[in-house]
Amino acid sequence: MKYTILGAGAMGSLFGGLLATQGHAVELLDLNERHIAEIQRAGLTLDTDQGRLNVRVNACRPEQGSTPPDWLIVFTKTMHTDAALRAAQHLIGPQTGVLSLQNGLGNLEKLEAFLPRGRIAIGVTTVPADMKGPGHVQSHGQGHSRFMSADRQRNPALVQLAADFNQAGLSCELDDQVLAAIWRKVAFNAALNGICAVTGSTVGQLGQHADTRALVHRTSQEVIDVARAAGVVVDADGVHHDLDHAMAHHVHHKPSMLQDLLARRPTEVEAIHGQVRAHGERHGVPTPCVSTLHTLVQQIEAVAS
Ligand code: NAD
Repeated sequence: MKYTILGAGAMGSLFGGLLATQGHAVELLDLNERHIAEIQRAGLTLDTDQGRLNVRVNACRPEQGSTPPDWLIVFTKTMHTDAALRAAQHLIGPQTGVLSLQNGLGNLEKLEAFLPRGRIAIGVTTVPADMKGPGHVQSHGQGHSRFMSADRQRNPALVQLAADFNQAGLSCELDDQVLAAIWRKVAFNAALNGICAVTGSTVGQLGQHADTRALVHRTSQEVIDVARAAGVVVDADGVHHDLDHAMAHHVHHKPSMLQDLLARRPTEVEAIHGQVRAHGERHGVPTPCVSTLHTLVQQIEAVAS
């Protein structure tokens, strides 16, 4: 199989690197020149719970990508999807499938501008990954991915993709209820990412104040209510349990939205809060907490730029 990774930061490098260890042809496409140069010079270094791997893999800019792959896996941050796909359009051949495991809502709609729904798969992943430096990614702890073809057909290419992921140690399953899993993660992220981002708090610090803890749960509940109005039933008890667990155990964790604001980078607020707000307006479901977080994160981004 040939896999091309569009957006080879923390997640893209991890997925691409592990697939390459199984003998697949893998091409990493990114804009980060230092990262590309280091991978070309010394290979990709992956630190996982299994130890350190050094993987030889092709890396270049999207417009330099060579031939259409069997699967193009999009792992840019959500606000960069359109530009990345435009630059890599020549790699979407008549048989190429495109997979997005990016966070947030609206990923399918972005991909549909470039290829038919039947060749798109969307999903969600809890696999963790961090960039340590150019050519160097770490991933510690368990994670799992779920995805499904956007037309809900289990075609052979999709089944092969899931088998290749599992063989590479990327635990995954095909899930007919993937929309519920996507919304569930959005409910979790809207609360913890958003409130940590505007308050500068770690996840554990949110749990130390009863009012803030209540705000966390209220924010997630808004997302769950919007999902239900959009026809997606999310396991509300599961979300509220996950929030309490995270506030009790991931005490020092700074969610990516806070990390992005601290580094003066744009965040994924549109794909999370912006999308929930828009769905809420469409279905007549009020989203006061989500909409306020949306506005405040945008305000912080605007001041920083
Ligand atoms: P990242 O910032 O580490 O990687 C994104 C990469 O995309 C960067 O290397 C950037 O240079 C590249 N990029 C930006 N614009 C591009 C373009 N036009 N063409 C090609 N490449 C471009 O982000 P990440 O942490 O790997 O996250 C990727 C996605 O996965 C996000 O949607 C994120 O929410 C989701 N996610 C991340 C994690 C995690 O633990 N890191 C876990 C689950 C889901």
